[in-house]
Amino acid sequence: MLTRASARRTPRRRARLVRSATAKATAYAPKIWLLNGAIAALAIVVWGVIIRQVGPLSPEQTHGQVVAWYVVAMGVGGAAFLDVTLTFRGRTATLNFAETPLMVGAVFLSPSHLLLAVSIGWGVAHLVKRRPPEYIAFNVVDFGAGAAAAFVSYRSVLGDHSPVSLHGWLACGAGVAAHVVVTAIAVLALLGVTAGRRVVRSTVATMASHTVGTLPLSILLSLCAVTLIWANRLAGILLVALAFLAVVAQRAVTALRDQYANLDRLYRFTVSISGRTEVDDIVPVLLREALDVLAAEHIELLLPGGEACLRYILEDQGSIVREISEDLSQFEELVSGGQNAILVSLGDRRPEVLDALADRNAREAMGAPISVGGSERGVLIVANRSNGGSFSRSDLGLFEALAAQSGVALRGSQLLDQLRTEVGAREHQALHDSLTGLGNRVLFQRGMAAALEERNPDRLVAVMLMDLDGFKEINDTLGHHTGDAILKEAANRLVAAVGKDGLAIRLGGDEFAVVVLDTASRAAVAGLAHRILDAVAQPLSVEGLVLALRSSIGVAIAPDHGLDTSTLLKRADVAMYSAKSTGRGVEVYDPANDHHSTRRLILATELRQALDAGDLEVWYQPKADLRTAAVSGFEALVRWRHALYGQIPPDEFIPVAEQVGLIRPLTWAVLGAALDQLHSWHAHGFDVGVSVNISARNLLDAGIIGRLEELVGRSGVAPRFLTLELTESTVMADADRSEQVLAGLANLGLRIAIDDFGTGYSSLSRLRQLPVHEIKIDKSFVTHLTTVEGNEAIVATTIELASNMGHTVTAEGVEDQATWDRLGQLGCNEAQGYFLARPMPAVACEPWMSQRLGPPKLTLLPRRESAAGA
Ligand code: C2E
Ligand code: CA
Ligand code: CA
Repeated sequence: MLTRASARRTPRRRARLVRSATAKATAYAPKIWLLNGAIAALAIVVWGVIIRQVGPLSPEQTHGQVVAWYVVAMGVGGAAFLDVTLTFRGRTATLNFAETPLMVGAVFLSPSHLLLAVSIGWGVAHLVKRRPPEYIAFNVVDFGAGAAAAFVSYRSVLGDHSPVSLHGWLACGAGVAAHVVVTAIAVLALLGVTAGRRVVRSTVATMASHTVGTLPLSILLSLCAVTLIWANRLAGILLVALAFLAVVAQRAVTALRDQYANLDRLYRFTVSISGRTEVDDIVPVLLREALDVLAAEHIELLLPGGEACLRYILEDQGSIVREISEDLSQFEELVSGGQNAILVSLGDRRPEVLDALADRNAREAMGAPISVGGSERGVLIVANRSNGGSFSRSDLGLFEALAAQSGVALRGSQLLDQLRTEVGAREHQALHDSLTGLGNRVLFQRGMAAALEERNPDRLVAVMLMDLDGFKEINDTLGHHTGDAILKEAANRLVAAVGKDGLAIRLGGDEFAVVVLDTASRAAVAGLAHRILDAVAQPLSVEGLVLALRSSIGVAIAPDHGLDTSTLLKRADVAMYSAKSTGRGVEVYDPANDHHSTRRLILATELRQALDAGDLEVWYQPKADLRTAAVSGFEALVRWRHALYGQIPPDEFIPVAEQVGLIRPLTWAVLGAALDQLHSWHAHGFDVGVSVNISARNLLDAGIIGRLEELVGRSGVAPRFLTLELTESTVMADADRSEQVLAGLANLGLRIAIDDFGTGYSSLSRLRQLPVHEIKIDKSFVTHLTTVEGNEAIVATTIELASNMGHTVTAEGVEDQATWDRLGQLGCNEAQGYFLARPMPAVACEPWMSQRLGPPKLTLLPRRESAAGA
């Protein structure tokens, strides 16, 4: 509907548009003048030849004639304004009372006076009505010709009879009829000239029925007037006064009716543009409706659009041209700068007005400012009444109201636009995580629901849950700022790895999810999970550190593992925990593992009983000097043999104990057992040490130093035989507090070892400040020391740095001879691992120590009876 036009401002083009409408009117002007001439000639001939000598019927003196002349002239002029529209059974008829003064003139005036009176009265009235000149002229000659006909008919029928006789009545009827018929013929001739024969033919019938309906009333009124004035000349003045009042009353009624009609139009207009929310939707309707309501020939709308402004013009064919105007014309500036609508016509002297009218080839125009929000204003312009008439004050009021309504609609659309963008932003906010920009839980739920609903029976939907391993430690150690940076990076990698295959979500914290919306292959899902794992595991540098983010992914697939979001999510969670505990990285849901979560619950409740009942056992794993192979000590490792589940690995129940607040009693139980054991070994001549694992929570224990002092004191062993193992993340979690506690413990004479070194995120330089005696390199670097590239570099560096700091370096997880040898070459001090021995029950330790045969190479080394401790 809207056609884009060039960006040029095109007044000529606009003029053409307007001209097409007004062109018709102006093109007909010469023809109308010709017609006017013809009718005038005819009237003059009839008048001059036939009735010039006829005198007035009444024996009136000069001044009486003068009064009569004014009465007739004013009566005709007044009648020109007194069009009474009657509506009867849905049909309307317009009554005009001009025949009444005309017939009064036919009785009391000489023909030349009559002609003068009606021409002047009628002409002045039409001048006041501001019709185009050719129309005024037409009205004058038309009425004049009708008057001639009326006069001739009246006088011929009347003959010598009195105007107030029955004969006079007949004559009056003939006169009125003659006027009506002749003027009607002239109007038809005009229509023939301007509108064509078809219109004439269709008008004849309407005119005929209309005339038949109104003629009797006109005759009756004329008769009354003639009779009254004949009887008493003063009645003429009364009649003029009556006519004047009638005109005033009629005007008031018309104004009221116009107001109602305008209200009705305004309502129609408002209804038609309301409910539209797009500017491009509102404008066409606005232009068409306003043009129609105002009965105008031309309409255009200018809307401010930043630098330039948009000009919409309704073309003749009903299509809308949109142009970009760089500047407003002076007239448009005038309108947009004002408060109210203005009505201008060719009579206006202001050059900007004349320019604007010339630009639009218009006789008159109305312009109204439209406030479209903010300080900016648009302009609505209409030009030329389509029926050749002119705009009235009430049209101007209506126009102003239309412009105001248009402003409301346009502002509304702008607000809506704003609202739409805001809503869009809010919706994005509501569905996305602000840190990573990934979708959030809500989006996840929606995505899942939609994917499950739309799933084809032979297709799969998969959900993956991913959790970064040890993220809490990263956060605690390196701070939230770094934690955030890592999460963002992880999110980026996740998105890149998932690509178009799914929807990446951050569920919260370090938990992510991926929904694979539609796939046919389970292998593809697993493949994607591994790709994600690899992508996330790529070394990452933050704050000068290079980290490898490890993560675990649990996968659940619809329809295999469930058909609804909550089941799938639960099962992905089970799979994820399973992936974490097995260390396999990716795990697809397996019902066999699903006891996991229930099992955790059971463990939590039963652990207390186990503690109380002494069902927890402490086993010991030896470690030895790498050079001499002498046993330097044992690590105490807790064991739980469950009646139902059998051996439960500590990796499983230690986190539970930490969660449910049982880690304190557990640690004290192990410490007690280990110290007792130590005492016993020492008593039997094995001067070894013992290491006990301490949880992060134990360090928060306010009385830990005092209690340990008491416990060690009571056991009777020298404090230096007891080593406390703390993971590096435990120590770093609350470094300041750790430093204090560790200092206190070291003061007791206890040894401190940093466990699982390399898996946390601490730096050796930070460790330098702590009272640490031993570094235990994590088994993940050691076990595959000689087979996996990169491990040796890490191990070698750690050994070198730790040794430089004076720490004893222990390698955990030594499983073979090659590793043992290599570690020795690298300068590592001690080794622990299956190669030496697996963890064993307390009772097995002494026999193992006494008759240790062990692997060949170890036996070659002499056993140092008193080798223990520092
Ligand atoms: P950890 O402190 O790193 O203990 C060493 C773990 O490595 C032990 O597992 C041990 O059996 C295993 N291991 C030793 N040599 C080798 C080897 O050559 N190859 C392999 N693959 N593994 C080896 P375990 O006993 O299952 O203990 C697991 C973890 O549970 C321990 O890791 C420790 O963090 C925790 N833990 C055990 N007992 C206690 C305790 O009494 N208190 C606390 N807080 N944590 C404990
Ligand atoms: Ca340990
Ligand atoms: Ca360890």
